[in-house]
Amino acid sequence: MRPPARAAARRETCTVMVGGVAIGSSHPIVVQSMTNTDTEDVAATSAQVAELARAGSELVRITVNTEKAAAAVGPIADRLAALGCDVPLIGDFHYNGHLLLEKYPECAERLAKYRINPGNVGFGQKRDRQFATIVELALRHDKPVRIGVNWGSLDSRLLSRLMDENAGREQPRAADEVTREALVLSALESARMAEDVGLPHERIILSCKVSSVQDLVSVYRQLGTACDYPLHLGLTEAGMGSKGIVSSTAALAVLLQEGIGDTIRVSLTPEPGQPRSDEVKVAQELLQSMGLRAFSPMVTACPGCGRTTSTFFQTLASEVQNFVRERMPEWRTRHDGVENLSLAVMGCVVNGPGESRHADIGISLPGTGEAPVAPVFIDGRKAATLRGEDITGQFLNIIEQYVQETYPAKGA
Ligand code: SF4
Repeated sequence: MRPPARAAARRETCTVMVGGVAIGSSHPIVVQSMTNTDTEDVAATSAQVAELARAGSELVRITVNTEKAAAAVGPIADRLAALGCDVPLIGDFHYNGHLLLEKYPECAERLAKYRINPGNVGFGQKRDRQFATIVELALRHDKPVRIGVNWGSLDSRLLSRLMDENAGREQPRAADEVTREALVLSALESARMAEDVGLPHERIILSCKVSSVQDLVSVYRQLGTACDYPLHLGLTEAGMGSKGIVSSTAALAVLLQEGIGDTIRVSLTPEPGQPRSDEVKVAQELLQSMGLRAFSPMVTACPGCGRTTSTFFQTLASEVQNFVRERMPEWRTRHDGVENLSLAVMGCVVNGPGESRHADIGISLPGTGEAPVAPVFIDGRKAATLRGEDITGQFLNIIEQYVQETYPAKGA
């Protein structure tokens, strides 16, 4: 059994409690997601929240945009409780949050955190008053807030002020540089305003989402050095499929490697017919690939090449992955540490034995011209040689037996 994943050095922050989940400081980086159902539809929204939570989302955000949506929050929380799902719900508010939270106290109470976008709180003179009202409601209900700035809805008053100041400089800076500064300032000034209203420092989380990888890295580096609030990381409008996954990973990995980021969301546009929970899987795989957290046994597989004799190698890698996915719900409840298990499926003798030895359990299949046998390595040593028609079944049995023997059953 290999040691569990080590966390990289994290930026020092205060800790914010959201429901029962600790965010910041040295607490594990939290995976979160957001529904795309109509919140007024209690059945659809509670089903999707439960699906996201089952996939591993540790916080789930829902939009609260209308009176009916605010009224639905209590019934959604009730349905989730009946399903045994206690994931904290976050309310996403724009423009009318001050009214909805006041008029629907059950909504204010059942949510674990309020997300406020300083650019979408209100217009003109009303803006500061409405922002303060949401903060006062957070105080009344003992809730934390996320001040979530977004590139697409940046506080226009602040941006104009900074642009005017910049225009008056002897050597004006580029407009995008000023915009990045405005994003960071919007978050920091809003946090100060919230504290002026009385919200404790350790009840504030910040985010500044943009859709460009380089801008995101730049903005979060500035935020990371300017404050000790926990930071919610995410590339907004990342896109669909591999584009969304690659862009989000490229941006988040750089920041996480620098210790910046306390909770993450991967904002994927779901492919038609694909589950919303794919974004949770990507977030988990990102953290696990970086060694920051472990959620499920990792299966390493070589890409295959001209030495691979057949598609059997791909089939085996896929069956091992499926087996782990199917067994994990039970393993997780019974075997502490099983998420750290590492498996390798390799296509031939060239790299197979070497890579297999680096995993807890590895198998090296025969390549072109090699004897039709498959050596299995356990904890770095050759432990068996599989042959015959049922190599897959034999290998899956070895994995199951290893889990039972290596990760002691809880309460045993
Ligand atoms: S392990 Fe063998 S089959 Fe797999 S990529 Fe390397 S050389 Fe090719």
